[in-house]
Amino acid sequence: MEIVLPYAGIVLLVGPSNSGKSTFLKQLIDKGQILPSEIISSDEFRVRVSNLEFIDWAHRWKDVSESLYNDYQRISAEAFSLMEATIEARCRLNKLTFVDATHLYPDDRKRYIEFGKKHHVPVVTLVLDVNQDVLLERDKKRENPRGTKRIKQQYQVFKREKRFIKKEGYLETYFISDTNETEVSRRNSNP
Ligand code: ATP
Repeated sequence: MEIVLPYAGIVLLVGPSNSGKSTFLKQLIDKGQILPSEIISSDEFRVRVSNLEFIDWAHRWKDVSESLYNDYQRISAEAFSLMEATIEARCRLNKLTFVDATHLYPDDRKRYIEFGKKHHVPVVTLVLDVNQDVLLERDKKRENPRGTKRIKQQYQVFKREKRFIKKEGYLETYFISDTNETEVSRRNSNP
């Protein structure tokens, strides 16, 4: 598969945990095709504003501790505000930005279509389309497993959303099932 990325704009990664979003981006860095500074992730911004490493089960904290959950919500809000300001600044400067998060729900993605329109830059989606068995197998081997229940839940949402993504208004939507069979190139200028 051949992926052609725009010169500037937003590249939205989409896929459940373990679909390999971060690994794929790291491969592109290693090949010299993208720069580390071109990648933005909400997890990284949470750490940046709070010093705290959150893992995927943070959403369950509401059952464990109300105050911890409230902390997480406040930190997430600050992290997102900073992250979105950074993405918008990069759009204004005509840069390409890869946003690394699951983006499983329509509202998670809609925001970026709005940024694209506002700043007159294209938005492209790279959908990591990996089957549930592989996701679960990878989870077992992972340092911080997300857990079977969570992965299955994410996969159900992903399966449902897959058919709608193409119609949401992206310049291109690429479904990637094997990153090793994927060639990436970048346009040298705006069209
Ligand atoms: P999350 O949304 O939870 O951050 P992710 O989609 O970014 O997940 P990665 O962090 O890239 O996924 O990878 C999760 C695990 O799956 C890691 O242990 C990684 O080594 C493994 N993995 C990712 N891609 C592949 C692949 N193509 N082949 C084999 N293992 C992979």
